[in-house]
Amino acid sequence: MRIDPSLRRKILSTISPHELLLCYQCGECTTVCPVAKESLSLFHPRKIIEMANLGIRKVVEDDMIWRCTTCYECVEYCPQGVNFVSIILALRNIAREEGKLPKDVRKEIDQIVKTGFILPVTGLVRRQREGLGLPLLEFTESDELKAILDSKKREDEGGKG
Ligand code: SF4
Ligand code: SF4
Repeated sequence: MRIDPSLRRKILSTISPHELLLCYQCGECTTVCPVAKESLSLFHPRKIIEMANLGIRKVVEDDMIWRCTTCYECVEYCPQGVNFVSIILALRNIAREEGKLPKDVRKEIDQIVKTGFILPVTGLVRRQREGLGLPLLEFTESDELKAILDSKKREDEGGKG
């Protein structure tokens, strides 16, 4: 595993440092996390904090950080008051800045921009809704969100040049 001191500095400058440094690796966050319960080999909050603390590059290069649902269960139970969600969001921002958005996340973003929904509304969904007497779903293209994403993309491209 590659340790990158500059990544560690970047993480610590993005998150309030106590969020990372107060963690004493008890593992309670992993124990209570509903995602870890289903797929511990793919998502392990305690290990993510350890990797972030050490500046291990895999923490922003792997898609594990995108598995958190931001349900805040771990935050409720952490004996040290560590806000794991703020750590995850900071890591996601760093991954995005570095152009490491997973393909599926990119697809979801495009989907939201184009339709206003995170998942495609298929014919089956439409028929099921109709059967239940629910109203038709209206697609809404989000011009505002599109403008934000376009300007971020331009910023990123400018930064690379
Ligand atoms: S519960 Fe809190 S102190 Fe324990 S490992 Fe998780 S973040 Fe660290
Ligand atoms: S916020 Fe994320 S890491 Fe914490 S319990 Fe929920 S899914 Fe797990």
